[in-house]
Amino acid sequence: MSERKQELAENVARVKEDLAEAARKAGRQVEDVTLVAVSKIKPASDVRALAESGQLDFGENYVQEAVAKQEELVNLDLNWHFIGGLQSNKAKFVAGKFGLVHSVDSRKLAQALHKKASSLGVVQDILIQVNIAGEVQKSGITVENLPVLADEVMEMDGVRLVGLMTMPPFFDEPERARPVFARLRQLKDELEKQLGKKLPHLSMGMTGDFVPAVEEGATLVRIGTRIFGARAPKV
Ligand SMILES: *Cc1c(COP(=O)(O)O)cnc(C)c1O
Repeated sequence: MSERKQELAENVARVKEDLAEAARKAGRQVEDVTLVAVSKIKPASDVRALAESGQLDFGENYVQEAVAKQEELVNLDLNWHFIGGLQSNKAKFVAGKFGLVHSVDSRKLAQALHKKASSLGVVQDILIQVNIAGEVQKSGITVENLPVLADEVMEMDGVRLVGLMTMPPFFDEPERARPVFARLRQLKDELEKQLGKKLPHLSMGMTGDFVPAVEEGATLVRIGTRIFGARAPKV
């Protein structure tokens, strides 16, 4: 086994131990939490190495980079997640190519994914990204506008709403993110009542704050740095 492959496999194993511990503490099943390895800015060779060790869910932020990686790794049976900000004019490159799009935050984007998915004869699973803290620089729909967007998305048969995603403000202390995660879970419960439909997924928790996220009910955690090491800034 190459040194890099071994290092990556060990990092995933350690993250999984922490996930299991957090799940156990919260009285949850660890199988109910999927680890999405966030491979943005990292080479396809890293993804391949992890896939050989059994890690099959990967998250990407940038359309061009993600599609290039998918093409390079087309022979592997991977589950790709699109987690980054997405302009609606690029939705056509994403629909049908990712198992789940975590970052839908406007009617325009949902509509573009719906249109492309419909033309491909597929249904695109999506999450709505919510900007809970109302930070102006962050993507995500506001809490106030969430119910209307959810209703609109339900009218589009090319997309299927399966839950919510959030990215809390950066805190030095992960416990400070806990109320944001608890709020997302509450919003999901409210939305389930509104829509009369179960929403199985909560995508929340990254390297710095996945423990409180799992304790608050995350079903998908998106972890990059803890697995792959620090990222060079995107230029
Ligand atoms: C980069 C990124 C992550 C992973 O962040 P780490 O702190 O490296 O674990 C998770 N979610 C989103 C939306 C991201 O852009």
